[in-house]
Amino acid sequence: MTDFFDIKAKRLDPVFLAWLQARVREDAGGCWEWRLSAKDGSQPQGKYLGNVINVRRQIVEQVTGKPLPRGWVAVERCECKLCVRPGHQIGISRSEAFKGKEFSVLHKAKLAASAQARSKISREVVERIRAEPGTAVAKAQVHGIHVKYVRDILNFKVWKDYSSPFSGLILASDKQRSAA
Ligand SMILES: [Zn+2]
Repeated sequence: MTDFFDIKAKRLDPVFLAWLQARVREDAGGCWEWRLSAKDGSQPQGKYLGNVINVRRQIVEQVTGKPLPRGWVAVERCECKLCVRPGHQIGISRSEAFKGKEFSVLHKAKLAASAQARSKISREVVERIRAEPGTAVAKAQVHGIHVKYVRDILNFKVWKDYSSPFSGLILASDKQRSAA
């Protein structure tokens, strides 16, 4: 496969690149196998500058210089489950990612439910945050959670509803694709 490592790695923060390189093992095929924990066994994560980050998302966002659009995920395209080599990471819409892995709607619902079960707040609180008037700052104070988390709830970045079989299709709308 064409390796865009040099192009992509140049755009990474040198501090982040050094942090990344200290946590991988390069295999014979040139993939950088993540040596620390991975969420759901396939999403490398680690503590960087005090925050637990999704390593692939961090790479893609630094390389492109902008946040991934809503409903998009960062994945490896080399089919090496734990690879975090910058040149092997791409951002794609969630439904494309699921399509590629042939995840069923049921599987998606399960993943969403398990993520939500780990969350500090309940679905009822999420629904209230979305329904109540007021600023994100005020809502954060009322519910004792971070403002960014309130914004993520309001923007459906977290607590997405997978109860509809079409929710994946909505996330992959052409509008979002063109916004990339
Ligand atoms: Zn790879």
